[in-house]
Amino acid sequence: MTSQFLWVDPKKCNGCMECETACALVKTGEKDPVRSRIRVIDWNQKGLFLPVSCQHCETAPCLAVCPKEAIHRELLGGLMDIWLAPLKALNDAGDPVAELLDYVERKLEMSRDMPRESRLFAGEVLQGAPRFGEFVAGPLKALVDEKAALIQGWVDAGRIAPVDPYHLIFSIWASTQHYADFDTQVRAILTPTGDEHLEDACAFLCRMYAGLLRPNGSD
Ligand code: SF4
Ligand code: SF4
Repeated sequence: MTSQFLWVDPKKCNGCMECETACALVKTGEKDPVRSRIRVIDWNQKGLFLPVSCQHCETAPCLAVCPKEAIHRELLGGLMDIWLAPLKALNDAGDPVAELLDYVERKLEMSRDMPRESRLFAGEVLQGAPRFGEFVAGPLKALVDEKAALIQGWVDAGRIAPVDPYHLIFSIWASTQHYADFDTQVRAILTPTGDEHLEDACAFLCRMYAGLLRPNGSD
């Protein structure tokens, strides 16, 4: 079976429950939504429908019947290629501080442009990575090990200040993906009219990481 996942856009969902009925029918032979693998939740009974989906069928009949095109399917491999591109781009030939600040900027851009994917990944890991586990322990770990070795090489050569490469990478993930995963909270507090708060975040984080990474005494 192709490794894939479903995601649902709650803004499009109208709560018709067709997906639940289709799922129950294909999985149990009965049109009993209680037996569906997908759940549509009326959040706080305020008409905000939040379908909770699964990844179980290759053909996904729930997706086919959705009248609002609220259910989408993506391949895990394709998403991960895009997701890891900024880390892969860290280049030994570049200036180390500039390379790492560019990484921070690209991660923030992804939080702006791909918040759904960031939340999908965070939610998956919070559940113990039932579907992404092999990816996390395999290709992701290998890539992080490779880039941590690169950063350690910069430290050893005195090209950046002494930092733990792994915790640096974790810190960059946490401080940038926060703006996607906690978007609702950030927007409630800052009340931006658009994405201007991300420009402020970028300036703040780049200044913070530049101060952390520059070797003593350098600009
Ligand atoms: S993918 Fe299959 S099992 Fe999962 S919710 Fe859709 S119809 Fe049900
Ligand atoms: S079929 Fe589509 S619109 Fe209807 S409840 Fe399911 S996700 Fe929402």
